[in-house]
Amino acid sequence: MFLLAYQFLYNKNTKFEFKNILCYYLTMKILKNLFCVIGLLCFSFSCIFAGITAKNLMKVGILLDVNEVVIASDKQYTLESPDKKYYLSAGKINISVSGKQAVIRKKSYSLPLKISGKSPVIAVNKKFYRSEIIISLSSKNKLNVINELSVEDYLKGVLPKEADGGSNLETLKVQAVISRSYVLKNLGRHYKDGFDVCSTVHCQVYGGASCENAVCNRAVIETEGEVVTYENDIAQTLFHANCGGFTEDPKYVWSWKSETPEYLKGKKDKYCKTGPHSVWTTTISEKTIREKLIKAGYDIGEINHIKVSGTTESKGAKEIIIKHKNGKFSMNPYKFRTTVDPWLIKSTMIDDISKKDGNFVFEGKGWGHRVGLCQWGAKVMAEQEGFSYKEILEFYYPGTKVEKIEYDK
Ligand SMILES: [Zn+2]
Ligand SMILES: [Zn+2]
Repeated sequence: MFLLAYQFLYNKNTKFEFKNILCYYLTMKILKNLFCVIGLLCFSFSCIFAGITAKNLMKVGILLDVNEVVIASDKQYTLESPDKKYYLSAGKINISVSGKQAVIRKKSYSLPLKISGKSPVIAVNKKFYRSEIIISLSSKNKLNVINELSVEDYLKGVLPKEADGGSNLETLKVQAVISRSYVLKNLGRHYKDGFDVCSTVHCQVYGGASCENAVCNRAVIETEGEVVTYENDIAQTLFHANCGGFTEDPKYVWSWKSETPEYLKGKKDKYCKTGPHSVWTTTISEKTIREKLIKAGYDIGEINHIKVSGTTESKGAKEIIIKHKNGKFSMNPYKFRTTVDPWLIKSTMIDDISKKDGNFVFEGKGWGHRVGLCQWGAKVMAEQEGFSYKEILEFYYPGTKVEKIEYDK
């Protein structure tokens, strides 16, 4: 800044003394600082703080009940057991389990082991993870491998796995906000196993630093700390692949204990009509269905008939009636779907079931439990209709807000 001011004045051939130049420079600096402060104030007011605080560090179970794991780092790293700290040079180590102890290069170490290093990532079985790795003893006396890191870094490893394809920034911001809300609402779900969330579809799919990409990281950074809130609490941001035209009320899907909150009640969605799985047909043999039901504890004979009884306000099946050789019974459609095959019977929006040559043919719409945000609809809203991520969240979770939380230091 000083050099620029000097050059400007010098080039104008004006006879200014050094004192004048310094004065000009200082005035410019004060103005610049003033604009910075005004800018920061405007920025702060544009982000609404929810008054909700959350834990900054979280634990993700990445490998469960394994006999052995290979850890590697390209820089010096440390191994901290409950009784001692060990310094290791760059390279790899094999950790196995014997009794209740870890074994590394034929030496025994007490568990848990905390591994951290100078490199920003640590390799676990050739996949990279940010921050720290904890190796603990599982309930089956095997090894659990846990990645401890910040919530924001965790999300960078979730987005590439959970976002439904594409690289549209606005669509990815939708996923960043719902994945952040979901994980903060569900921290401690695996408390008994010694970590917060697992890395599979049971919680959210997490691929660590190995799966990160620039656009997903940008979506996380540009929405840092933002969550969906409802009545001063983080909302349950349930989501699925395609709702088939109507999102479903969770009371028809799970045994939802309390009254369904307004923002999760089913609604019409015109944006996902053309997506994959918006309409599907699947054929499953009678024998397969019968065997799956018997395995799940149903005492049934050959199935004669399967039919939908009643539909929900969101066009989902209310009940599935199964008539078999020895009698008949009814099932919750979601339970029926997940018991038989959730990959084949893609949703509970079943329009027709017919029997043909020993097979049952199911015709339906949508993919997933259909509760909350429809990922395909959100993608169309962002990419084809030009909606912002906040407008999309407001559409699928009506009455909610997007607010910033504060992380514990
Ligand atoms: Zn889980
Ligand atoms: Zn939809």
